[in-house]
Amino acid sequence: MANSDIIQHFIFENTDIRGEIITLEEAYQQVRANNAAAEEAVPEAVLRLLGEFMAAVALLSGTLKFEGLLTLQARGEGTMPMIMAEASYQKGLRAAVQVNDAAAIEALEEISLAQLLGNNGLLAILIQPDKGERYQGIVPLSKSNLAACLEDYFAQSEQLGTRFWLAADEQRATGLMVQELPQQLADAQSNAEHWQTITALAETIKDEEMLSLDQHTILYRLFNEEEVRLFDPQEVRFQCSCSEERCVSTIISIGQAEAAEILSEQDLITMDCHFCGKKYQFGPQQVDKIFAELGNQAH
Ligand SMILES: [Zn+2]
Repeated sequence: MANSDIIQHFIFENTDIRGEIITLEEAYQQVRANNAAAEEAVPEAVLRLLGEFMAAVALLSGTLKFEGLLTLQARGEGTMPMIMAEASYQKGLRAAVQVNDAAAIEALEEISLAQLLGNNGLLAILIQPDKGERYQGIVPLSKSNLAACLEDYFAQSEQLGTRFWLAADEQRATGLMVQELPQQLADAQSNAEHWQTITALAETIKDEEMLSLDQHTILYRLFNEEEVRLFDPQEVRFQCSCSEERCVSTIISIGQAEAAEILSEQDLITMDCHFCGKKYQFGPQQVDKIFAELGNQAH
C-alpha cells in the first residue's frame, strides 16, 4: 500500500491478546502545517506531542464499535492548557492545541505533558456516537507522558490490561498498543504468561526504531518468537469535520441581534477553524438570508 498513514491490527495466535501499530506521516504533516500557520507559533516539542495524541486517538478508535467520533483531550492550567486529537469511525484524524506562552516552552530543556499542562491536569476520552448517548471518561493526569497516562486511564476504567508506546519526530508520529481481551481462546494462566512475555518484548522498542522502521520490521523484531496474525491494514488520513453548515448553526445560536451587532462593527463575521485553518466568512446579506430562512422554517 502506497499510503504512508497506516494502522495495522494484529492478534497473538492462541492467546486472548491483541495489538495495533500505527504510522502517521501525511496526516501528521498536515496538522503541523496548520499549526505553523497559527498566529502564535507552536513549539516543536508541542507539535510532537500533537503527533503522539494523533497516534494514540487512532489506536483507541480501533475499539470503536459504532459510527461516531472519539476524542482524546488533556487540559490543565499551564503554558499549554489544552491539547486534543479526534478520530472518526472512518479513520479521519484531526488535532488542535492551545499554547499560551510559546517562549516559556521553547526555553525548557525537557518537555513533559504533565509539566506543560500544569496544575489540575486532566485526561479525558469522549465518545460521541452519531446515534445514542455520549460517553466521557476522565482521569487526573498523574504521569509525565501520554502513554503512561493512557495506561493509568485503562487501569482505572477497564479490567483489561492495555499498554502503549508512542513517539514522534519532525517527520513521523507512531504508536504501538497491546491489549488483553476477555478470556476466550486460552486459559487464564497461559494468557497471563503470554501477556508478561509480550509486554516485556514490547518494552525493548526504542523511539528511534518506532520512527525509522516499517511496521512489519518492528513487529518481527519484537515478536518473532510469538505467532502474530495480521489483519488487513487500514488507511488513516487527515480530515476536518468543519463546514459552512456548522458555521451557520453557530450564527443562528448567537442570534440575529448579536450577529447584527458584530456586523455593525466589522464588514464580515469571520470564523477560523482551529483544526484545518479554513476561514468561513459571512456578510450582512448572507446573515440576513440565514435568519430569513430560519423564520420561514418556523412558520
Ligand atoms: Zn476545519
